Amino acid sequence: MMKKTPDVHIPELLAPAGNFDKLVTAIHYGADAVYLGGEQYSLRARAGNFSRAEMKKAVTYAHDHDVKVYATVNIFAHNRDLEGLDDYLRFLQATGVDALIIADPGIFHIARKVVPDLPIHLSTQANVTNFSAVEFWKKQGAKRLNLARELGLAEIHAIRQQSDVELEIFIHGALCISYSGRCMLSNYFTGRDANQGDCAHPCRYSYQLVEEKRPGQYFPVEEDSRGTYIFNSKDLCLLMRLPELIAAGADSLKIEGRMKSIGYVGGVVRVYRAALDWIKIQIFSGTRPEKILLPQSFSNEINKIGTRSRTENFFDAHPSNDGMLYDTIRTRQRYAPAGIIRAVEPLLVDVRNPIECGDRLDYLGKAIEPRPCTVVAMKTQDGEPIRRANPGTKIILQTEPVLDGATVHSLLRKNMEGL
Ligand code: SF4
Repeated sequence: MMKKTPDVHIPELLAPAGNFDKLVTAIHYGADAVYLGGEQYSLRARAGNFSRAEMKKAVTYAHDHDVKVYATVNIFAHNRDLEGLDDYLRFLQATGVDALIIADPGIFHIARKVVPDLPIHLSTQANVTNFSAVEFWKKQGAKRLNLARELGLAEIHAIRQQSDVELEIFIHGALCISYSGRCMLSNYFTGRDANQGDCAHPCRYSYQLVEEKRPGQYFPVEEDSRGTYIFNSKDLCLLMRLPELIAAGADSLKIEGRMKSIGYVGGVVRVYRAALDWIKIQIFSGTRPEKILLPQSFSNEINKIGTRSRTENFFDAHPSNDGMLYDTIRTRQRYAPAGIIRAVEPLLVDVRNPIECGDRLDYLGKAIEPRPCTVVAMKTQDGEPIRRANPGTKIILQTEPVLDGATVHSLLRKNMEGL
């Protein structure tokens, strides 16, 4: 008897691409779509954004791999910012990007007039939190809405029941303590405006108290002897909640992090891709998505990436103190990105953190289980044997066991446990 194909849609996996190298890595590990910013109009002003020539190259590369590209035009614009916007939007359309990501109603309005055929995805910064806002933006012509990060699963589900507009959900990455990232803290402390893409992250600083008649006398505000980081949120991680998000009808699952390293982007995309593929197999075997429980091996892998611990934020209820890292800016991480494989036979590695003979590395393939190995020898590209390789160099690497089947663009991770 033919098995009936279940009527469940596996959402798109949408990854950040802070530069061309990160885009290639995200695509290598299985992103269905990437988002990137040009040199203007894009939040993350310091993300190494794409020049016009790089943007064309990125779109061509992504489309050659059947991956969609969304361009961020998501600053909150002042009048002066609108000059040149028409030309930039026409350029993006000519480049072939698949959609624009916009937060500001003014930019939205201009984009509808200048490039009416180019789909618009509403940024999370537009703070869509209710049915009426969903309908409003749909009527304005938004094809997709990235819902506010302050929504829980029940609210996402209820919005899905009431609207057929595409819904995009943030599933992983850094969180602001401000409302969907609309914040003046950075502007106030450093003159760098978060709403113009230039946040200095002062919410992660350590704070002390000063009584106004005693200038220079700093009173510690302590959780413990290390001080306190009162605004320092843990990072969002909805990995183990993917089955519920699929059941709720999410269309796209977004990973934050255009400023993050290539090791972070590749590592996170790898885990979420493997998880979605595993869930898809369960669904096609007849299990309803809401009944699926991801094995612990997925959680173990995601816990090896990043240094701010994990929170599910508003997913079940309002976050409590558990969602914050009050006593440290970051947690200790026992794994570090080691390098990127640039060629195989022999294994040519672009080094990102120091590697020494005897180090234990994990080769990160597409399967969720890493492949451990030990460095037994290294050479420069000129053939000179070395014992230690520094970041920024390229080396020929020999491991035990040999990494048969290793592929270009894959990552190596250093296991520092026991070092
Ligand atoms: S300062 Fe912190 S809370 Fe404010 S926008 Fe930047 S990251 Fe978000």
